[in-house]
Amino acid sequence: MCLFCKIIAGEIPATKVYEDDRLVAFNDINPQAPMHVLIVPRTHIATLNDLDPSLDSLVGEIIRRGAAIAAERGYAQRGFRTVFNCNADAGQAVFHIHLHVLGGRHLGWPPG
Ligand code: AMP
Ligand code: ZN
Repeated sequence: MCLFCKIIAGEIPATKVYEDDRLVAFNDINPQAPMHVLIVPRTHIATLNDLDPSLDSLVGEIIRRGAAIAAERGYAQRGFRTVFNCNADAGQAVFHIHLHVLGGRHLGWPPG
């Protein structure tokens, strides 16, 4: 089982901030901003390269949940960032897709 599948299964602890039948959101263990939440699908999908049209609604829910968590924390107007890293050039380290949701400080652009 991958690291995030173990978190979803409760075998590895994480600070969960949201869960439903399709998604789990938890705090990143090495936060890069005052808010740094990861949102994962309960189903194991290794990378964005593994998406197909049957997963479009799931990915949409992940993004909409990211916006909702940011809004709950008061970051809707000032802004926040959402990122999916894919494979080596983007620095993907855990091969179970996850949306990073970052906020609470100014985030530079372009990213590193
Ligand atoms: P990525 O580089 O996009 O694959 O991001 C992986 C993220 O997972 C990093 O931001 C890590 O800090 C985070 N991470 C790794 N292990 C854990 C863990 N046990 N609990 C929460 N977040 C983790
Ligand atoms: Zn997994």
